[in-house]
Amino acid sequence: MSVTPTVHGPTETDAPAAGARWEPAEALRRADPLLADLLAAEAERRAESLQLLAGENITSPAVLAALGGPLIDKYAEGYPGRRHHTGCALADTAELLAVDRARQLFAAPHANVQPRSATSAMLAAYAALLRPGDTVLAMSLEHGGHLSCGSRANFSGRWFDFVGYGVREDNGLIDPEQVRELAHRHRPKAIIAGGISYPRHVDWAAFRAVADEVDAYLIASAAQTTGLVAAGLAPSPVPYADVTVAATHKLLRGPRGGLLLSTVELADRVDRAVFPFTQGGAAMNEVAGKAVALAEAAGEDFAAYARRAVDGARALAGALAEQGVRPMTGGTDTHLVTADVSPLGLSGVDAERRCAAAGLMLGKCALPFDPAPAAEASGIRLGTGAAAAQGMGPAELAEVGTLIGELLRGGPQARISARVRELARAFSGRR
Ligand SMILES: *Cc1c(COP(=O)(O)O)cnc(C)c1O
Repeated sequence: MSVTPTVHGPTETDAPAAGARWEPAEALRRADPLLADLLAAEAERRAESLQLLAGENITSPAVLAALGGPLIDKYAEGYPGRRHHTGCALADTAELLAVDRARQLFAAPHANVQPRSATSAMLAAYAALLRPGDTVLAMSLEHGGHLSCGSRANFSGRWFDFVGYGVREDNGLIDPEQVRELAHRHRPKAIIAGGISYPRHVDWAAFRAVADEVDAYLIASAAQTTGLVAAGLAPSPVPYADVTVAATHKLLRGPRGGLLLSTVELADRVDRAVFPFTQGGAAMNEVAGKAVALAEAAGEDFAAYARRAVDGARALAGALAEQGVRPMTGGTDTHLVTADVSPLGLSGVDAERRCAAAGLMLGKCALPFDPAPAAEASGIRLGTGAAAAQGMGPAELAEVGTLIGELLRGGPQARISARVRELARAFSGRR
């Protein structure tokens, strides 16, 4: 493998990254060679390309080990000390560890670690606080709200009456005055702060103030930045929100799953909204994996990784801007960058396809006030979590931004693809 001198390999303290050396276990190879080959090819695909999809990361090896451990077979409906199944003593201890670590890491009075995804955690948050037909004020889907914030194709839009706030057209930022005006006009039972495509810090205190004025609950939709909050690099919603919805698989590098944080007063309602209202038995291997991820997130390696993700995103946004790919809000405070590719005469779909063909895996993204049809979109969305987990920092991510810009401006695809593959290989392959 040839690596140019500008590439710094992952340091010893970084967790090993995903890569080509993933080998299917012998049992899998024997029982299902077709699937074994398919998974090996997927590992190879990831090792040969750069993972820049905003919600993706590289699960830590310790978490993977816990996920494949014996708790995968345990049925444990209910909560520690109050299970419907026998033989749960050790499962209980694992869940209590995860809960304690979540409470400590986020300074949260109460934590529920059982939601299977951030969307099911949102469902439980609604179930804990609302009745069908209630009015909810949330970031509109067109401006970056998640589908669990009022899409008609989702339970949320079907069961609740959503009013959408957006961002300002001049600067791309949430306008607290618009939120206030809509809250006073519609008197929602709950206000949801946060979204999936907002690259700036959310002013949780401003949302809390509006919620208090209209006597609404405040739900923080904070799945995208959970790991940054853990590392102290994004303001925490926990002191302000009645219920915080977090994800363990995005920046936290844990199992695919959700996490609910709440006040003590709401603890019982939150717990009952998860089990038995929206779920049966918890996935105890995922709970164990969450415990591991939450412990890792308290460490210094994690803090350094999260710092690389944020500094890297800033460098990436700067490099894109220099190439004429306009970052929304002018940059980022987080691991997320959204950018307008229309100045280059491309749609978001065109840009996503062209990048994927060169091994740059990022997502098309409809921008606020996007004139293009939703299926085409004018923007792209990128996240630096996986790259930072592999050891990349601002220097590499600035180069990645330049490569993306050159490619989208019609630069030489063969040279750019070769450089992407070189970077990808240099930072993968240590799992
Ligand atoms: C990622 C995300 C979700 C959805 O998470 P899933 O685990 O895929 O259900 C919901 N809301 C926000 C804000 C997110 O960032």
